[in-house]
Amino acid sequence: MSILCYHEVDPTWQSTLSVTPANFRQQCEWLSNRRVLSLDEAAPIVASKGRLPRRTSCITFDDGFVGVGAYAWPILRQFGLPATVFIVAETMVGEKAVDWVDGTEPGTLQTMTRTEVQRLAAEGMTIGSHSRWHHDLTTLTEAEVYDDLVASRDILEDVTGGPISHLAYPRGRHNAGVRRAAERAGYQWAHALPETKDVGGQWAVPRVGVYPGNGKMALRVKSVPLYARLRTSSLGPRMSDLVKTVR
Ligand SMILES: [Zn+2]
Repeated sequence: MSILCYHEVDPTWQSTLSVTPANFRQQCEWLSNRRVLSLDEAAPIVASKGRLPRRTSCITFDDGFVGVGAYAWPILRQFGLPATVFIVAETMVGEKAVDWVDGTEPGTLQTMTRTEVQRLAAEGMTIGSHSRWHHDLTTLTEAEVYDDLVASRDILEDVTGGPISHLAYPRGRHNAGVRRAAERAGYQWAHALPETKDVGGQWAVPRVGVYPGNGKMALRVKSVPLYARLRTSSLGPRMSDLVKTVR
């Protein structure tokens, strides 16, 4: 099975990036009957083998939207499931508004405050970096990527009081220079979101996006080892079509 990548859990936001609390609860219930690993446990397995063992998953969130603390985390705690949220460092201190979501006006989507991130960290959620500004890192020089990633880690470590060892590339995008910068910046793992064949490994740990309407059936499709193999092969898009049909 795969490391799952959610974005927002919200009752009203109609977006491919958001699932409803009811849907999320249903997915957590299904996942809790299997094995859910923390990202610290899952990353080394996926980095070396390309996927998790059967009936095993891992839950992550990109972007740090408010619904992660307000809706997702209470449900996760109810089921005793570990999870990780990747925060865009400058959004916590009000320096950066959400301007990276297609089809929404900049500033309308709310991200978690420093206090909220601190609370989640204290309650046991793993906090990772989603960079400092959510730039597409592949458009920056390697030196610029390095500076961004070091700064975001420093800001997040200051907030959480603990080490930040996981990075999720904005939009999952990376190249050789970005991966080198992530390693030099001191992260232990960097996570991607491959749509096609990807390099994999410690600096491009693959994850699978979970989108609204993904019920138990779609998660089941995504959980089979065949899916993990197909989606990193030239057959990937056809498998995506299959996932759409079972939503
Ligand atoms: Zn993002």
